Amino acid sequence: MSGPSLENSSDMSGRKIFELISSAAADGSAARLGKLSFPGKKVVETPNFFAVTSRGAIPHLTPDNLKRHTSVNGVYMALEDFIEKKEPPIQHTPGREGSRRLHIFTALPSNTLSVLGPRRCPAITTPFGNTPKALAVFTSTGFRNVTVPEFASYVQALQPDIVLPMADLPHTSATPSSKKLVRMVERTEVWLDEFLGKLASSKSTDSLDSSVFAPVLPVEYPIQWDYLRHLSEDVLGKLDGLAVYDANLLPDLVNYPPLAPLPKLCMDPPKTPQEVLRQISLGIDICTLSFANITSDAGVAMTFTFPSPSVDEVRPLGINMWSPEHNTAVVPLVEGCKCYTCSKHHRAYLHHLLNAKEMLGWNLLQIHNHHVVNEFFVGIREALAKGQAVFGEEARRFIASYEPVFPEGTGERPRARGYHFKSEADADRINKPAWKDLEKGTASAQITNLAESGTPSGESQDATPVAVVNVEEAVATLSIN
Ligand SMILES: [Zn+2]
Repeated sequence: MSGPSLENSSDMSGRKIFELISSAAADGSAARLGKLSFPGKKVVETPNFFAVTSRGAIPHLTPDNLKRHTSVNGVYMALEDFIEKKEPPIQHTPGREGSRRLHIFTALPSNTLSVLGPRRCPAITTPFGNTPKALAVFTSTGFRNVTVPEFASYVQALQPDIVLPMADLPHTSATPSSKKLVRMVERTEVWLDEFLGKLASSKSTDSLDSSVFAPVLPVEYPIQWDYLRHLSEDVLGKLDGLAVYDANLLPDLVNYPPLAPLPKLCMDPPKTPQEVLRQISLGIDICTLSFANITSDAGVAMTFTFPSPSVDEVRPLGINMWSPEHNTAVVPLVEGCKCYTCSKHHRAYLHHLLNAKEMLGWNLLQIHNHHVVNEFFVGIREALAKGQAVFGEEARRFIASYEPVFPEGTGERPRARGYHFKSEADADRINKPAWKDLEKGTASAQITNLAESGTPSGESQDATPVAVVNVEEAVATLSIN
């Protein structure tokens, strides 16, 4: 490893938020160790990860469990999850001195970092594109537009620790043409300047600032080079970091040395730990991890570690907890795991909870899986502290010793409810409908018959268990996602 870099980034008020501890390349194009520090927050040692929330909460984790049983340092939230009305309740959340409104509204532990962006991660496609002045978003009451002044006013009201300004990203099903890509870059630059202007003009001395992480767009370098120059020359003093929407763009950022000391948050969610290693080796400091949520939903307990244990066989990245082999297994999910789940419960119990569709099963899996991910990042930082060569060697060994994808969970997912599932095609639905056709008409028709017949007798009695099963299922799966 070459000598440590002493370059740091400071935010608009001059407070230092990111400190580079070591980097193999001064231009920021290789894996690096750093520290993200905000007043009153846990210091985030990087490389690290932020968890992805749905409607303000990490799926299956209540804020108290998040605080007690996980080491999550930061979470990503989407504004579109909160603005279903013209004057949504979140805008009128009473403030408390020194507390950020977004934290108060979502009950996020006060020392956990909040990142607010306009859209969910990953975002649902919209039926119409963005306009020159507004971004198309999907709220619980349907699609609508958000303008830059509106977004800026929400940011000032909610006071997230980090804000990702609006970027003209193509969240439509059509592949953007090259002309459209050029327009995306132009619009994003205009929107960013307008957003920074709004923040600066209405800044009051007692308000809590949000650090701005400017978007690096998922378009080829020749199309956005001038926008990146704008970031590095014209507005650098107003930026605290970068939100990178395509990790493949990182090698091109070396052309802009002033951007190198900025912390880089990757908004291109990796699907596997192997992809995490790749993003880190390209210079990403913080990954947004949605695969922890997806894996827990599937009923899979992660089992990987970094560095990987020396083995000759290729190991799976996780175990399918639905598998009948765990029926009577009174062993922890992972031998030696220090998480709450593994220290209090065993595989057979978790297997039973999943089969009984008890939401506790997914709660416990989320705690374990976030612990595994956290330990994975601890291992990466320890390897990096020993040098770039050690990290590179361990990363290669990891890729060779684990299967490239997570095993599939064979059971049903927790019942997914919410507006963000409605627009997905039937084929993508992860649950079967709760009501299904029986031999004689639909279940609802039988219940209507039952109601009409007065007392349950004869054929009508067959309908009763159907109704009970559905009510139980609905209760068991409330508040999931
Ligand atoms: Zn565990």
